Amino acid sequence: MKKYDLIVIGAGSAGLVAATTAHRAGLKTALIEKRKIGGECTHSGCVPSKAILNLAKSYSAVNHINEIGFATVKKSKVKFEKVMEHVHSIIDGIYEHETPDIFQKMGIDTIVDTAGAVFIDANTIKIGRKKLAFKNCIICTGSSPRIIPFKGSEDTTFLTNDNFWEIKKQPKSIVFIGGGVISVELGSALAQMGTKVTILEVAPRILGAVDEEVATYMTKVLEDQGIKIITNVNILSFNKEKVSLEVEGKKKTIKADAYFQAVGRVPNVSSLGLEEVGIKYDRKGLTTNRYLQTNLKHIYACGDCTTPFKFTHTASHQANICVHNVLNKKKKINDLTVLPWAVFTNPEIGHVGLTEQEAKDKFGAENIAVFKVNASIDRYITDQKTGGFLKVIFNKKDRVIGADAVGTHAGEWIQLLTIAIKNKIPAAKMADTIFPYPTYGEIVKKAFTRYLRTKK
Ligand SMILES: Cc1cc2nc3c(=O)[nH]c(=O)nc-3n(C[C@H](O)[C@H](O)[C@H](O)COP(=O)(O)OP(=O)(O)OC[C@H]3O[C@@H](n4cnc5c(N)ncnc54)[C@H](O)[C@@H]3O)c2cc1C
Repeated sequence: MKKYDLIVIGAGSAGLVAATTAHRAGLKTALIEKRKIGGECTHSGCVPSKAILNLAKSYSAVNHINEIGFATVKKSKVKFEKVMEHVHSIIDGIYEHETPDIFQKMGIDTIVDTAGAVFIDANTIKIGRKKLAFKNCIICTGSSPRIIPFKGSEDTTFLTNDNFWEIKKQPKSIVFIGGGVISVELGSALAQMGTKVTILEVAPRILGAVDEEVATYMTKVLEDQGIKIITNVNILSFNKEKVSLEVEGKKKTIKADAYFQAVGRVPNVSSLGLEEVGIKYDRKGLTTNRYLQTNLKHIYACGDCTTPFKFTHTASHQANICVHNVLNKKKKINDLTVLPWAVFTNPEIGHVGLTEQEAKDKFGAENIAVFKVNASIDRYITDQKTGGFLKVIFNKKDRVIGADAVGTHAGEWIQLLTIAIKNKIPAAKMADTIFPYPTYGEIVKKAFTRYLRTKK
């Protein structure tokens, strides 16, 4: 039986970083994957969703070109099969750099086998009949879409982010169940390409994890794109033809070509043999300490299978922490207090640190300052992209502790605030930094300069 310093289970965003970093650091490493290297991000998450959003944005821009004085362009037609082909070509382009032989050639023993890895004991796994021994292990098995079994929905084939990429025909109408990021991104892409989109949300508002003011703004943007958003929904029953629901005491039915469930994630922990070895987990995923160790200290977990912050950049960041902790006695802590993220709608949402509400709850309203700048400075004006805003939360020492934004390329320039928070850069230093003119990111400088003016 082969013995490794480290076995990495799952070759998605977390697993790939864990295996390559460990290998570079000199650990004899094996990487086990049961589906396809690249995981959700490459095959059914970030990559295809960003590719389709990009196409939808271009399509929408072409169809609005008449409004800005160009000669009449006839409304372009969506060839959905071609759109999906393009999306797959983008996936393939990324996968080209992630094929098993690339990692094998690098010196990482790479096994792709549908049997997947199963623990036999605290230092051995099996993949089918093959057994491998390890000193350390990092579990990076990710998560899967949660499916709610509604009354009467047995005959309905729901779309999820797993099977959506296989459809060839553009649905004329689609109902998204759940008003989170997946629904909002894919719903916005489809709506911009002409699909009639409805989003059903059980809570009083969509984008529950997002700052309330940003979510309210985005709701309006999505409605302007033609999306129907119904909140406070109670889904009563389902069948192939229609969904019956109750909204604030009133019953109604909606009929659509397709139904998409985006109602949360289930961590992939069930087929790993965790019980046999005594590795603890609950419905949120693997239980880890602040060093990302499970209750068996030489077995770590990172990414979607353990964290509530299900992003590729969290997965890769945590993978680096795990490898560091395998290698070093002085361990790194899994600190996600300055975690940025973006929603790739048109325009984008950007977030980092505390929201206004979280800051108020944590420090008290009297101990923070909230400063807002509208996205109506020069570059937004030249490109006719005004709308949206940046809201910065300061503490008493004029240091940024959080920021929420909605605006063109917000997912890019929010990172300037991540750097400010992470490095505790004083507002005066940010205001004194030169930004190229005219850029979208100048909104960040404006926020600091104008905020400081209010203090004089
Ligand atoms: C539609 C959509 C859009 C998204 N967009 C973004 C985005 O824009 N930005 C962002 O940061 N995040 C985005 N995400 C989230 C992101 O995809 C995930 O957070 C990230 O992929 C998690 O990485 P991971 O390595 O933890 O898990 P995964 O990428 O899911 O990888 C886990 C791997 O483990 C394998 N596996 C499972 N069990 C076993 C086993 N027993 N043995 C061997 N292998 C096993 C799986 O097959 C899989 O390949 C998006 C998600 C979705 C659904």
